[in-house]
Amino acid sequence: MAANGGPGASVMQARLTELAERFAGHGFQVLQAATAEEAVAHVSARADLASALVDWNLDGNEAASADGDGASAAEEVLRALATRYNRLPSFLVTRGESVDNLPLWVSEVVRGYVWLLEDTPDFVAGRIAHAARAYLEDSLPPFFTALRQFEDAHEYSWHTPAHAGGIAFLKSPVGRAFHDYYGERLLRTDLSISVAELGSLFEHTGPIGDAERNAARVFQADQTYFVLHGDSTCDRMVIHASVAQDDFVLVDRNCHKAVYHGLTMTGARPVYLVPTRNGYGLMGPIPPTELEAAAVVAKLAATPFAEGANTDGPSYAVITNSTYDGLCYNTVEVARLLGQTVPRLHLDEAWFAYAAFHPLYARRYGMAVGPETVPEDVRPTVFATQSTHKLLAALSQSAMVHVKSAPRCPVEPKLFNETFMMHGTTSPLYPMIASLDVAAGMMDGAGGRWMLDEAITEAIRFRQAVSRIARRITDAADRPSWFFGTWQPDTVTDPETGVQYPFADAPLDLLRTEPSCWTLAPGADWHGFEELTEGYCMLDPVKVAITCPGVDARGTVTPVGVPARILTSYLEHRGIVVEKTDAYTCLVLFSMGITKGKWGTLLDALIDFKNLYDAGTELRHVLPDLIERFPERYAKLTLPELCEQMHDHLSSLKLTTLLDDAFTHPPRPQLTPAQTYQRLIRGGTQPVRLAELAGRTVATMVVTTPPGIPVLMPGEHAGEHGGPILTYLRTLEDFDRHFPGFEAETHGVTIDRDGNYWINCVTSP
Ligand SMILES: *Cc1c(COP(=O)(O)O)cnc(C)c1O
Repeated sequence: MAANGGPGASVMQARLTELAERFAGHGFQVLQAATAEEAVAHVSARADLASALVDWNLDGNEAASADGDGASAAEEVLRALATRYNRLPSFLVTRGESVDNLPLWVSEVVRGYVWLLEDTPDFVAGRIAHAARAYLEDSLPPFFTALRQFEDAHEYSWHTPAHAGGIAFLKSPVGRAFHDYYGERLLRTDLSISVAELGSLFEHTGPIGDAERNAARVFQADQTYFVLHGDSTCDRMVIHASVAQDDFVLVDRNCHKAVYHGLTMTGARPVYLVPTRNGYGLMGPIPPTELEAAAVVAKLAATPFAEGANTDGPSYAVITNSTYDGLCYNTVEVARLLGQTVPRLHLDEAWFAYAAFHPLYARRYGMAVGPETVPEDVRPTVFATQSTHKLLAALSQSAMVHVKSAPRCPVEPKLFNETFMMHGTTSPLYPMIASLDVAAGMMDGAGGRWMLDEAITEAIRFRQAVSRIARRITDAADRPSWFFGTWQPDTVTDPETGVQYPFADAPLDLLRTEPSCWTLAPGADWHGFEELTEGYCMLDPVKVAITCPGVDARGTVTPVGVPARILTSYLEHRGIVVEKTDAYTCLVLFSMGITKGKWGTLLDALIDFKNLYDAGTELRHVLPDLIERFPERYAKLTLPELCEQMHDHLSSLKLTTLLDDAFTHPPRPQLTPAQTYQRLIRGGTQPVRLAELAGRTVATMVVTTPPGIPVLMPGEHAGEHGGPILTYLRTLEDFDRHFPGFEAETHGVTIDRDGNYWINCVTSP
């Protein structure tokens, strides 16, 4: 309740106190706010409001915006309520003034009017409590609602799971500990599919089916499928449902392991789409020219897998959107280009499930590709697969497949369901289904936008704070001028006014609403990617790469450098764990779980690192755990000395050039993923030392960081000893030997006690 001021304030206050007592009788608590500011703070801090009462004369102001300029205090509160809550029953307290000259939008958002001095407190409280209860019931999504009702009914179960609502656990001390730890409710809602009232995941019926259809509406899909085994399963499922044996498929080289697993299962013949790299070694987007029909035709003509292939052209393409580093495509443009040759487009949106809920990401997610955005003759059927749990709020493994069918290749739900069932379980965990239902409910309407706005805002505040500190350090000129940065454009332009701002000084509202502030302008130095077109690729502000001195996006090496691995070791020592570390950048995520100002500790740690570096602090004071593990190697060094050793080593390796070489001369495929897998399960593979890998065909995916994407796919030829791939892998092996404790993150490689890399290969080519 927000009320204050105006004539008869004390009478009003007495009425409010009476009202609060009546609400308590209905089981509701009352929060009071005397000013608009206080009320807005409540609205933003709390997610458990059930109703609101706003005094139209709040702050003693007369209603302003109907004819005058500027909003009244009451309007400010109502606006805050409407941007935070979906259909929260809000009531306007009026004192006899006419309600027919209120601003139109106010009449639309308020549920009703309250004449506090005329009506009895019992009547007012009863009316509002009724609306509040209805709101609480209606605001929950379908499956969660049904599950709560079912759990309330307290039925006895004669079906699996055998713990029977948790009872079995109570019969053993170990089980009892488990029961006490999680509490009864989780176990009570762990039900089997024998509970017909809750519907069926395999048949998409009942409340489960309703929940999927509700999610489809929220995520703008034709159909949505709930998947309980991660986006990994979604990826395999979509490939399995789309690709026939011996089909050509176009695959983003920057793809997740699960995509490779899908290729293996189907007997597909992959042709890769190769992303660009920049000077930091970060993977950029696949250039638009690679997606054009002529380029696709040329790729197919060059593949060694042509013999015996289905000749209708590629049946399917998969692209990771956004990339780990937060680069997201104009998916409408991607669909328009690829649709000329490919009927099905799969966007792996493992890290991007939130994109549909904020205008900053308009046209940058899979479900934005539809009849209204792409001409029907080229529009492909689009699948978007999402790890709902990664960046929305859902239990781990909870994921979704969204489908938008095009007439040229419609997805027949009954047929797709055959694949769905093949990758599913007949014993789904209902709390996971509830968490998917709730994740969709949370993002629906105003609430989703509000939460994203908060994450985006915090990310921008952090980015600007880092830039401003860097500038203050330079301006002060009383210490070495280096500092960390965040990766984004140096300047942004307000498209309405044409005013250009240095990033640090740009208005927050501009940065959080204007996508053009974040798009990668072709040729711009800050990103360093080549072959882009205007608006094709955008940097997602919530994925923040912290840049360290040493190299820039163009690959220019500076004399002094701070390799990111040293920084992240220090951060870890301070209890701050980053998402990913590359050579001179590390990534932090501003997810919806962010709390205001949480980034203050990170900023503080960056400043401390600089001070330790500038003071030439001994390593044992900076990374004591490292010294304990490798005393002979590091005990005598200072922080700047270690940075110098590692920076010199990294720059002499010419990592960027090597990477570029490796990707410009892609490995030659020898076997398809399916053929390689047959070797694997028939004992046709063996580990081979990196030193002897020349001329061999690898049997496992080799992924190194940077760039964090496969340098070798199973079935590919490792090339010559002096070739780009083996040279690159040997430099990583060499780096690991020199810098124990800072080993590269490398998958598909086993490292022996002497630091040799071993990679699984097929036994004969
Ligand atoms: C994490 C990830 C997946 C797999 O998701 P899970 O939910 O962990 O199974 C798939 N694709 C990409 C690009 C990912 O990053």
